[in-house]
Amino acid sequence: MQDSNAAQTTSGTGLQGQSRRRLNALGMDREAWAALLEELGEKPYRVEQILKWLHHRFVDDFADMTDISKKLRTELAERCEIREPEIVSEHLSTDGTRKWLIRAAGGSAVEMVFIPEPNRGTLCVSSQVGCALDCKFCATGKQGFNSNLTAAEIVGQVRIAVQTLADAYPERERVVTNVVLMGMGEPLLNFDAVTPAVDLMMDDLGYGISKRRVTISTAGVVPGIYRLAERTDASLAISLHAPNDALRDELVPINRKYPIAELLKACRSYAGNLGEKRTVTVEYTLLNGVNDQPEHAAQMVELLRDFPCKINLIPFNPFPGSGFERPTVTSVRAFQHRLASAGLSVTVRTTRGEDIDAACGQLVGSVADRTRRQARYRRLASAS
Ligand code: SF4
Repeated sequence: MQDSNAAQTTSGTGLQGQSRRRLNALGMDREAWAALLEELGEKPYRVEQILKWLHHRFVDDFADMTDISKKLRTELAERCEIREPEIVSEHLSTDGTRKWLIRAAGGSAVEMVFIPEPNRGTLCVSSQVGCALDCKFCATGKQGFNSNLTAAEIVGQVRIAVQTLADAYPERERVVTNVVLMGMGEPLLNFDAVTPAVDLMMDDLGYGISKRRVTISTAGVVPGIYRLAERTDASLAISLHAPNDALRDELVPINRKYPIAELLKACRSYAGNLGEKRTVTVEYTLLNGVNDQPEHAAQMVELLRDFPCKINLIPFNPFPGSGFERPTVTSVRAFQHRLASAGLSVTVRTTRGEDIDAACGQLVGSVADRTRRQARYRRLASAS
């Protein structure tokens, strides 16, 4: 059972007011349910029934699980709660992109974004409240860090989106076809909550999303990549953003601990587990005059020539006080062309949801910062 999924509560559960930990059922994967049901002396097939009630039929009360015995329903209610995160607000962009502000434990809030396209729908979910890594071009990094989300809070974002979007897209059989852990936070620094949440996203008894379409994105937590390989075969993306260590040390400070060569080595190892035709995605935010010059393109070619990957170029999405500028369309195309003509697989990500601050790198949520970074950046922004 995941500690990261437990909630402290004293609500009436037959314990006559004793304080005890109740697990949030929404974050429990097959393994966690199997362990609990065994402890309760129940048959393993109950796992299937319970998961379907939770993630296919979206019940919020064990009493509604009518195909299991009353005794078990009572026992489950004593041990677990079903608590979906609360939606604070929802915003709809003129291009159809949606952004939700979702309340996390402790009062802070994270953001989640849905990007509809003709043949797919991508949900970008958060894994932490804020982020400790402070990548220099990222609005989340400037919010500082508060806490990890629980598995239930991570998978709960998918649960909210699937229910909400079913009404918005009645013609689609499946609205959320892809999930990317590219919202707020560094997923591999919240490993124990992220992995069961990802299990549930991919499980047919959960959300049944293909492992090719569930992507964990990391800024480069190298030990986490090796650990992840032992735990899942979900897709992996890395936030590269610079073609050499000197520049990456500045833009993505975790590079000082795990430099590019170590990161790519870990990715090769991870990709080796994925099987043929699956590669790692390399994200590269183009910052005007900083990492988008011809020499940077040439270094990217050198770096990735023999590294099977798909490169995703992201023209920087500005936010107040960022200190960076978006490159021109011409320079983005030139950068792409230099990579493509060297034989690299490269696409440019279209900016979506900019009018509601939902574009890549713009998510801020509402973070009660524990690091004082938020205040520091605010002082710098007002001074400049
Ligand atoms: S880019 Fe990702 S890892 Fe870096 S600060 Fe932003 S949320 Fe954190």
